[in-house]
Amino acid sequence: MKPLVAIVGRPNVGKSTLFNRLARRRIALVEDIPGVTRDRHYWDVEYEGRDITIIDTGGFVPGEKDSLLQQVREQAQLAVEECDAIIFVTDARVGLTSADQDVAHYLRQSGKPVVVAANKLDSESGTLQALAGEFFKMGLGEVFPISAEHGLGVGSMMETVMGKL
Ligand code: GDP
Ligand code: MG
Repeated sequence: MKPLVAIVGRPNVGKSTLFNRLARRRIALVEDIPGVTRDRHYWDVEYEGRDITIIDTGGFVPGEKDSLLQQVREQAQLAVEECDAIIFVTDARVGLTSADQDVAHYLRQSGKPVVVAANKLDSESGTLQALAGEFFKMGLGEVFPISAEHGLGVGSMMETVMGKL
């Protein structure tokens, strides 16, 4: 099995945008890994000469009672259980939310290697990049400012992810 990297985070932070960017390197659509997402949210991709499988998960909303969100949450939890490393995506323009804190709590308990991405930082401007700092409070270590949409910072974040596999 190739190493599995799961992309998690609350809804709307840019997980699918990041997934689609990384999936440009796809070498194969993963048809059927039992147990995880209903949709085709797995791709085998080559990154820096290594094959990995990336997983896009639905939004992870801890404590949510609604059954659809509950399902999405369970999908995300399954992905986290199966994976070898996690990219935890946050929205740096919105800032740290209690939902992020809850996800962080769950991820700390999972014991899996986590890389935090502070997304939607679309320029190199210092004031914008500084917004990433707030996410250190989650206690998950280094925070990578990225723009999933424009590709900024994604390379150095992925270097760290690959180093954890
Ligand atoms: P998901 O729910 O976490 O999968 O989030 P999506 O990938 O669907 O993105 C949610 C919204 O955020 C969409 O409108 C995206 O276009 C937007 N978005 C994602 N990444 C970025 C980014 O790097 N910069 C900006 N400005 N918007 C982004
Ligand atoms: Mg999505």
